[in-house]
Amino acid sequence: MEYTYDDQNIFAKILRGEIPNDTVYESDYALAFNDINPQAPVHVLVIPKGPYVSLDHFAQHASAGEQVGFMQAVAKVCELTDIADGFRAVCNTRAHGVQDVPHYHMHIIGGRQLGRMLQG
Ligand code: 5GP
Repeated sequence: MEYTYDDQNIFAKILRGEIPNDTVYESDYALAFNDINPQAPVHVLVIPKGPYVSLDHFAQHASAGEQVGFMQAVAKVCELTDIADGFRAVCNTRAHGVQDVPHYHMHIIGGRQLGRMLQG
């Protein structure tokens, strides 16, 4: 599959500092920030700094260092937020996954009982 990255997407603008964000954690490989429209008390987006459109693009094409760096940022978010009772990690992908922003991101959602997945 061909992946085409649009560097005008909103998360690319956040990474370039053109749009502000509420940063939770940042490293050389990833940025984690609070979602602007939180679905739960904890709702953090973790994004790689590289130009990847989706989870499958990242998993297939990112270097081992980028992939480890990304997951280390996820681990940091788990430490820094109040999700001891559990959470959900979601990566919406393309049309069927209802992905709005075409820069790979993982939602870390928690801080309340979330109910069963896929009710819609
Ligand atoms: P998607 O549907 O692509 O998985 O989710 C995109 C997420 O990005 C949504 O939860 C939305 O609230 C969030 N979002 C969109 N624009 C912005 C923004 O400018 N700042 C932040 N912090 N979150 C955003």
